Amino acid sequence: MRTLTSICPGCSIGCGLYLLESEGGERRHGLKVAHRTVAPMNEGKLCKFGMQLPAYYDKEALHNSVDGKEVNHEEAIEAARERLSSMNPEEIAFIALPGTITNEELVSFTSLASEFGCENLSFGFERFFRDIPEEAFYVLEHGLPFSDVEAASKIILFFVDPFVHYPLLARRILKAKRNGARIIEVSFTKNERGLADETIVVAPHEFESLREKKELFEDSLIIGELTPYTNPHLVSLMLWLQASTSSRLFLLKPFLNVTGALLISGGGKGAEKRKDLFEIFDRIDRGKIKALYLLETDPVSVLLGGEEVKKTLSKLDVLIEQNVFRTPLSEIATITLGSEPFYKKKGTIVNIEGRVLDLGGESANGLAILERMGKGRSYEDVHEEVKKRLGLGSSEPSEFEIAVTRTERKFGVAFLVEFIDSFLSLLKMGNDEERGEEGYSLWYKTNPFFWAGVRDKQFVEISPAAMRTLGLFSGDEIELVQGDLKERLGFKISDVPDDLIVSEDKLAIQPSDGHWAELHRRELLTSVALRRAKRSSTAEE
Ligand code: SF4
Repeated sequence: MRTLTSICPGCSIGCGLYLLESEGGERRHGLKVAHRTVAPMNEGKLCKFGMQLPAYYDKEALHNSVDGKEVNHEEAIEAARERLSSMNPEEIAFIALPGTITNEELVSFTSLASEFGCENLSFGFERFFRDIPEEAFYVLEHGLPFSDVEAASKIILFFVDPFVHYPLLARRILKAKRNGARIIEVSFTKNERGLADETIVVAPHEFESLREKKELFEDSLIIGELTPYTNPHLVSLMLWLQASTSSRLFLLKPFLNVTGALLISGGGKGAEKRKDLFEIFDRIDRGKIKALYLLETDPVSVLLGGEEVKKTLSKLDVLIEQNVFRTPLSEIATITLGSEPFYKKKGTIVNIEGRVLDLGGESANGLAILERMGKGRSYEDVHEEVKKRLGLGSSEPSEFEIAVTRTERKFGVAFLVEFIDSFLSLLKMGNDEERGEEGYSLWYKTNPFFWAGVRDKQFVEISPAAMRTLGLFSGDEIELVQGDLKERLGFKISDVPDDLIVSEDKLAIQPSDGHWAELHRRELLTSVALRRAKRSSTAEE
């Protein structure tokens, strides 16, 4: 058995752990997880996702192929370079949702995009920088050390249930609570585990009330979440609450290396120049973008509406997929390039606290693929570039320091108010026009399994009132209906508002309806109808 020091790629916390690999170094069937108590990010504790990492790594490997034929590494790289070179820059796009991607690979990926003169590059968070003042960019780019969470005297959980969304964050909040902090949750429903001292339940269309309660946010640490689906207006509302009170805002993110991706690609200013993820999908749908390079990104499993994603991406002339595992897109990819699993990688990431973590592996295959098509640099050269872009000078940071720090700044709120107003009127409009027949709202509580495309729970939570209305009995199944889309699954009765359905799994119900460019206008909740699923004839008898 070899013991490898590793990082969990499940979310932006980046918990430290050991992976025990059986002799021979074979990935499949050979890994075990062990706790690493000295890791400062998580002090040895892991959530269910971290404990199940061997299953995460035990997937079918992606091989090198061109037009469905297996080829060697060199042939696949050469074919990718040739196909991209035959396109106009505006016809090419590059997407990397930075979950298992090192800082070094991100430097090479951005360089590769610019080698082809291409500006259609996305790390999944670009649009959020377009509608906020530049002085506020730092809040989206940087996180905060967990020691600041533990030292806070008042914590506001802003539509975040830490036990579900970021399990290891919950421990820090419990420590803050033991230190005397008051915990308040602002949510559509109460946290089942009773973490908060007070819950402000917000009805789906009554966000206005939060502005009226702004004194609640004074002297607090507001903890929220930023995902590719977060409504930018909600981000503005959180920033407005920070700017108009004496509070600070801490935004958790689902993909491990988002902070690294944002910082080494120029932060918010860089993001403004790139393209939004869904804008790229829209341009693919309309035939404007014809070639896409996906770096360790499986949009079919990661995003809602996977079938729509696949339909859109199948319109491409050239789809290049660089990954370690096969994905639902591998069968339609024009070129596949196999790389190494995350735990074997040589490189660094930046976690949400600002720690620059060395992954400790020995392989730089993924980086070499990108560099062979681009500038041809060595790992060492690119690593030096990473340190420069992160402002680290010549030093090699250790996991025990917060190398990438955040400086608080003041920013204005006038522009934000106008933007939030348009959001509130949009919600009212949505309320009248988009509610499902039975008027239920679905809230996705995202979590590490959600973003890894794994169905963990297989049920949704509904209210006792909904159970009575639908005449449900234990053992029944329910059906969620959104237009032509249906999802049949189990249910659990919880203390949620009468018209709310909570899902921790990704369901067939989707926000896009194929209109990618419109995604930023979506509500925070999705309107659905809720029905009792037809019992099988044997069960009815
Ligand atoms: S998913 Fe996040 S919280 Fe869970 S073990 Fe991995 S990094 Fe830690």
